[in-house]
Amino acid sequence: MDLKKNDIFTVAIEDMSDDGAGIGRQDGYIWFIKDTVIGDRVEARVMKMKKSYGFARLVKVTVPSPARSEPLCSVARQCGGCQLQAMNYEEQLKFKENKVYNNLLRIGKLDGLPRVTEDVCRAGEEPEGFLPIMGMENPWRYRNKAQFPFGTDKAGRIVAGFYAGRTHDIIPQADCLLGVEENQRILKIIIEFMEEHHVKAYDEKFHQGLVRHVLIRKGFRTGRLMVCLVINGRELPCQDKLAKRLERVEGMTSISLCVNMEKTNVIMGEEVISLFGPGYIEDYIGDIKYQISPLSFYQVNPAQTEKLYRTALEYAGLTGEETVWDLYCGIGTISLFLAQKAKRVYGVEVVPQAIGDARKNAALNGMSNVEFFVGRAEEVLPEAYERNQIHADVIVVDPPRKGCDEKCLETIVKMAPERVVYVSCDSATLARDLKYLCGRGYEVRKVRCCDMFPATVHVETVVLLSKLKPDDMVEIKVDLGGVDAAEETKAAYTINIMAAAV
Ligand code: SAH
Repeated sequence: MDLKKNDIFTVAIEDMSDDGAGIGRQDGYIWFIKDTVIGDRVEARVMKMKKSYGFARLVKVTVPSPARSEPLCSVARQCGGCQLQAMNYEEQLKFKENKVYNNLLRIGKLDGLPRVTEDVCRAGEEPEGFLPIMGMENPWRYRNKAQFPFGTDKAGRIVAGFYAGRTHDIIPQADCLLGVEENQRILKIIIEFMEEHHVKAYDEKFHQGLVRHVLIRKGFRTGRLMVCLVINGRELPCQDKLAKRLERVEGMTSISLCVNMEKTNVIMGEEVISLFGPGYIEDYIGDIKYQISPLSFYQVNPAQTEKLYRTALEYAGLTGEETVWDLYCGIGTISLFLAQKAKRVYGVEVVPQAIGDARKNAALNGMSNVEFFVGRAEEVLPEAYERNQIHADVIVVDPPRKGCDEKCLETIVKMAPERVVYVSCDSATLARDLKYLCGRGYEVRKVRCCDMFPATVHVETVVLLSKLKPDDMVEIKVDLGGVDAAEETKAAYTINIMAAAV
């Protein structure tokens, strides 16, 4: 490649990387170019070159892709939070589906997985295979949570917004189109209050100033709002006045301060001081009620979360008799969903506070058939199994990006549940883990992606695996019709053979 830094070249974008950069090829050399879309032809400037690949910056789209759509957000490119905003929604869904499917094939070796189209699904019962992604009707304003940093601009004015991609410069943009409309009004109230009372925004370089971040959450089903100001101190001047103003926003239920006096990138501190309300808001996913405090984890797209959990519940195939283990259970959201239809559910999670929330939410919903354990799934499960030979009819896993630890998968295989439901946020580690399970007596029945984060590259996937029985018989019908017109010779021969996979 005879190009060097700052040279401008033209290339066609053929693919997209996992983090949403367009990929173009020139004589086998690979270019990563952000803000481009599959099908674009672009002019780009060389930024950095390695032996076989390089990074370039988009200068101009010379021939736009049919998949392109004008980003609705005016700061989409600077912010970088929505890597796929330049792609129309249908193409985003296609991109995500293909990414998962290709990983399952390439890493998981799931060659026999048929792709099922939307019309086949509509025709009747859900068939097996790789099913169409569950997208959103309206893929905007889906986030129930926002965290805005505060800062001071060059003119000395207080600003709140988003960090420009990979920096700590604040882009003042109150209205993120993924968040709720109330965010803007709340930010305006806080900024006006700070200006009036000379309350300074936090400056991380000098570790000075008071207001660091604001966390805003909304219960989509209940309409309840929560505001939590993260401050470098324990109180704000005239804080009651601020609370009074915020109380006027419709739905406002909880106003608090979170103390964070550390020199850190971590947003939240550990101590929360309530200024108004009970310190939490409530919301529902399906019929399950959750209490959400400023420090609790809660899924950010409740509408899609419900679809994802319903699918997981359906794949678990519960009749009311089953014992289910929910590994990596977080605050027990999936566990409680499953507990509605199972005999007993056991949840395992490594973060003790999350288990605290899980137990509280179980009690809030009057559910007594769930029990939670704090610890690593790869330690809790093997120990419980070695000690008591615990049994599971169904095991659900929802691990972080790195997937399941092998020790955990090994124990799942030993426990031999009828079904394993795997919920994943990273299709590469999902594929690796499916390969492990498929080599040890399990078979992938259904795969379905769910678009929890439109406009970003992230995608969730839920997979149903079932156990192959050693005496599984496979029926193969051999139709000899056509050899002879006579009815008898058209008869189908049924041959039973042992399942090859066992
Ligand atoms: N199922 C939950 C949360 C899934 S996120 C929900 O839908 O809300 C993954 C969870 O796994 C996180 O809560 C994380 O704290 C937890 N985790 C990470 N490593 C773990 C491990 N080794 N064992 C158990 N839990 C773990």
